Amino acid sequence: MKAAMFHGAHQPLTTEDVEIDKPIDHEVVVRVVASGVCHSDLHFVDGFYDFPAPAILGHEAAGIVEDVGSLVDDFAPGDHVIACLSVFCGRCEYCLTGRTHLCASRPVRAKDAAPRLRWQGLPVNQFANLSAYAEKMLVHSNAIVKVRDDLPLDRAALIGCGVTTGVGAALNTARVEPGSVVAVFGCGGVGLSAIQGARIAGARMIIAVDVHDHKLQTACELGATHTVNASSSDPVTSIREMTNGGVDYSFEAIGLKRAAAQCFESLRAGGTATIIGMIPMGQKVELDGSTFLREKKIQGSSMGSNRFKVDMPKYIDFYMQGRLKLDEMITRRLQLDDLNEAFRAMKAGEVARQVLMFD
Ligand SMILES: [Zn+2]
Ligand SMILES: [Zn+2]
Repeated sequence: MKAAMFHGAHQPLTTEDVEIDKPIDHEVVVRVVASGVCHSDLHFVDGFYDFPAPAILGHEAAGIVEDVGSLVDDFAPGDHVIACLSVFCGRCEYCLTGRTHLCASRPVRAKDAAPRLRWQGLPVNQFANLSAYAEKMLVHSNAIVKVRDDLPLDRAALIGCGVTTGVGAALNTARVEPGSVVAVFGCGGVGLSAIQGARIAGARMIIAVDVHDHKLQTACELGATHTVNASSSDPVTSIREMTNGGVDYSFEAIGLKRAAAQCFESLRAGGTATIIGMIPMGQKVELDGSTFLREKKIQGSSMGSNRFKVDMPKYIDFYMQGRLKLDEMITRRLQLDDLNEAFRAMKAGEVARQVLMFD
């Protein structure tokens, strides 16, 4: 099969022929139909996070089951599925207390089994247990969820990471209350999804913050009630003025330590800041310690605190009802060979979401 090979940080990806093993035990082979291009992959290409090469990146995909291992009884060839990097064991303390996204022992292949993926005789590292920039994925059955087949798979793909991460941060991690006041820093795929999560939760005021006017415009189409362009005004001052003192919930969806601090500084007393973005490893976020006396809280959010086998079908129903907008989030559709260009456009802030299509 064809796949985009990652050769290490700061190097372009190349399209290569990769061998994929047959599914064993609890594994499933999925033919990828659509694969979203997520900013998290770019962090590895840019060297802000480490991942060993050779590897296939990509972790936001939807497709159709092609083959299943001998112990799989909940999927069959032809099923439409969404993949999720929150593969879980179902047996650890986190899984047994309903926090499968924090699973402490994600299921991997036995050491003596053949590698799932091989290229030129070398084992290929499987990114996020998925490797979705490829024509097929070989994954554990606890890394996919079956979905209704009347949902177009390019829109389903977005639910695999960006939508689940943003909507879930609002609904699951922060538990935004109806009538509350919210600010979202960063209006890429995840930020736009956090805005939609806040809207679905019933927030009465949703302030979108970004440095690109075209992204703020998309944010308004998806539920933002107010905007701040952080390139022309200080977002903390603007938010405090607009809200008469600060917001109940703020979200950081970029991965910048400065934006994380601003997110916290934008809170009113008792408010909660939720950091979704991937802040580069080793960087410290600085906060004014005295403000903790006002019961301001700051927390991380991982993949929208999802229970994805339950959450993703719900998000699809929201889409079918018109409450979750996905069509507006796809800026353009590309091919596997266009991946380097997709990363360039993402870095330049030109796009919300780009989706690779496999025909
Ligand atoms: Zn992602
Ligand atoms: Zn577990």
